[in-house]
Amino acid sequence: MDKIRIQDLEVFANHGVFPEETALGQKFLVSAELYTDTRQAGKTDELEYSIHYGLVCQEITKYMKEHTSRLIEAAAEGLARQLLLSWPLLKGIRLEIKKPWAPVGLPLKTVSVEIERSWHRAYVAVGSNMGDRRAHIENGLRVVEADPAVRIVKRSELLETEPYGGVAEGAFLNGCLELETLLTPTELLDLLHEAENSEGRVRTVRWGSRTLDLDILFYDDEILDAPELVVPHPEIEKRAFVLEPLAQIAPYKRHPVSGKRVFELLCALKGEE
Ligand code: ADP
Ligand code: MG
Repeated sequence: MDKIRIQDLEVFANHGVFPEETALGQKFLVSAELYTDTRQAGKTDELEYSIHYGLVCQEITKYMKEHTSRLIEAAAEGLARQLLLSWPLLKGIRLEIKKPWAPVGLPLKTVSVEIERSWHRAYVAVGSNMGDRRAHIENGLRVVEADPAVRIVKRSELLETEPYGGVAEGAFLNGCLELETLLTPTELLDLLHEAENSEGRVRTVRWGSRTLDLDILFYDDEILDAPELVVPHPEIEKRAFVLEPLAQIAPYKRHPVSGKRVFELLCALKGEE
């Protein structure tokens, strides 16, 4: 991806573990690579299609001066997040904060922390088969959307489906969402659990009745094998109630393990029925 690069922007600020550092302040050098598509700006020569690096420099300076972190890790994390939230054309950022006057007591040029953060695309399955199912889903999604690091960009319809696995009673409403998020997969799962809990979800039996179920189907093309978070979700291929709504919003998305597209998985499953 194209980049706009800011190198060694000098800011006098008050980050540090020692009280002297927060009281007296010191010099920091901030470098950033702003990942963005510059094609449109390149073709039109119009600033509105790009990211105004002058304003970004001002924002970095303001952020660094207005916050006091003990660690430059925390300053970098907060600053990267703020820039990604405030610039719609910014897809990702590599941010480095150098501390040339780090009080180490030994001669060194700089110490620094460098992080890379970006927006990720995730697909989430939504289901409910208890009480006011539509209300549980809408309330849960409000909890998800209340986090500025999550944006719901597409929603399927909610489809009426029969219970699955022989445990739950009562028909389900099922749907799928496409999200853009700054959260890691684990942080996203925690947020989904929070939304489930806010709708009174009680975890008793697997596949049992539930007020709200939110599962991560895909997270970019990542493949994760931890038992508490398996991505892509291991049951996608077997579940028409996931594939039907998913095919409404992402028919051409490829499953990163099998390479098959969502509509192909749906056709294959229907062929079996
Ligand atoms: P299920 O959705 O399978 O009916 P639960 O919603 O009760 O069951 O989830 C049980 C556990 O599954 C969760 O606590 C979570 O840690 C784990 N899990 C593993 N992979 C995923 C995933 N991709 N999305 C959501 N939960 C997952
Ligand atoms: Mg679940």
